[in-house]
Amino acid sequence: MSLKVLFASSEVFPLIKTGGLADVSGSLPSALQNLGVDIRVILPGYPSVLEQLTDIQHLAILDNLPAVNEVELLLGTIAENQVKAIVVKSALLYERGGGPYADANGQEWQDNGVRFGILSKVAAILSSPNTPIKDWQPDIVHCNDWQTGLTPAYMKLVDHSSAKSIISLHNMAFQGCYPYEMLATLDLPASAFLMEGLEYYGQLSFLKAGIYYADAITTVSPGYAQEIQTEAFGFGLQGLLASRGHEIIGILNGIEPEEWNPETDSYLPKNYSHSKLAGKKQVKKALQQKLRLNIDANAPLLGIVSRLTDQKGLDLFLPIAQNLLDAGCQLALLGSGDNELEIAFRDLATHNLGKASVTIGYNEPLSHQIMAGSDLFIMPSRFEPCGLNQLYGLAYGTPPVVNRTGGLADSIVDATAETIANKTATGFIMEEVSSTALLNATQRALTLYRTEPKVWRQLQKNGMSQNLSWDKSALEYLDLYQSLLESK
Ligand code: ADP
Repeated sequence: MSLKVLFASSEVFPLIKTGGLADVSGSLPSALQNLGVDIRVILPGYPSVLEQLTDIQHLAILDNLPAVNEVELLLGTIAENQVKAIVVKSALLYERGGGPYADANGQEWQDNGVRFGILSKVAAILSSPNTPIKDWQPDIVHCNDWQTGLTPAYMKLVDHSSAKSIISLHNMAFQGCYPYEMLATLDLPASAFLMEGLEYYGQLSFLKAGIYYADAITTVSPGYAQEIQTEAFGFGLQGLLASRGHEIIGILNGIEPEEWNPETDSYLPKNYSHSKLAGKKQVKKALQQKLRLNIDANAPLLGIVSRLTDQKGLDLFLPIAQNLLDAGCQLALLGSGDNELEIAFRDLATHNLGKASVTIGYNEPLSHQIMAGSDLFIMPSRFEPCGLNQLYGLAYGTPPVVNRTGGLADSIVDATAETIANKTATGFIMEEVSSTALLNATQRALTLYRTEPKVWRQLQKNGMSQNLSWDKSALEYLDLYQSLLESK
């Protein structure tokens, strides 16, 4: 009998996406399914999910839930990879405009505690003796981030589940903290509101609940697994994490070859590969045309696709941007987030027509075109649990400039005389977190780009020929599932 895994996530590509969590929740279950795991994802029934899933059928009605009368469970299929998805359908909770966490103006939904509390609760019920789905009961419930952090707590404290639970930490900065009253709203026992339990500085923390009650903890890179046990990166949970330090497993994310492959990417006007790099030049030209940048094959084009938040460190880029543009670089930025950053980057573009293009918003095709058409990808994140964009940069022959942190340090090899000679160099790493360090790393890249075209091509090839697929990481998750079941 194959291993049954319920993979709980608040976003799953291509059904719904705001960031890397969706990419992981889209590809990892598919890679595990290819390894013979009987896996189903569970996610909220946002409108885009109900629209895109195929073969949707009614599974069950769940009533007696806290905070809401009932939800309907549907079973559908993700057409792209044939992974089965259990959808928690509730018009009250999930069927509205805007995004999964906030309205169209970026204002967080007031009832997110209930929305993701119910998602967590339903996942726990499906692994319990009270599940309405008797013919498919998971051996493992694999939770992701705070939105499904309460699941391990429900499994242990309320629903008497015999399945094992895992929490994967994709970003410690988001924790889902709510006032004490939320405990009663979500039918969680007040007796568990302890430091050794659900309580976090007087509040209920969904993420802490996951970390405290899960049978296993993973993070999305080995580097981040170490960093989150320190004050600088643990966002207050470093003590708890350090107490389970030897149990935290760091598994680097892979990328989805069906989605992120320059040889087949249908968003690109021209496909290319590491042995046929000429196509990349055509993509660059088309991108310059599309973004109204000066058509110039020799101008180094710097690409940025990112949430515009403090984490991503793009405020470090602003003070050096004019300098780089004046020195002949071009910029193509796509992103959205903090108002101040959006305004500052828009201003930069307004003052540098033909040299800097700034697109505020979310745009999947343009993100691929920037990744492929740029010469260099800029990613100076202050912290980065794994980071996917630098991996896409490797695959697309767009060497990344990154900060030495988390998954960036784990996945990029700095170009030095030695790593260039032994053909392991794949990008450029900043010496410290500062604008000067970002400028230095970018200038090192520009010097190579301009003066050593052969070395540059080798650098591109080093990145492009890496195996970045999910296969290896999926095997590590499978090992973890098996070892958890053996420990029963
Ligand atoms: P995070 O999850 O912290 O935002 P990652 O690098 O792990 O960062 O993943 C970001 C994902 O979201 C990538 O797939 C990236 O291409 C995508 N992305 C981020 N911002 C945008 C945007 N404005 N438009 C399209 N895709 C975006």
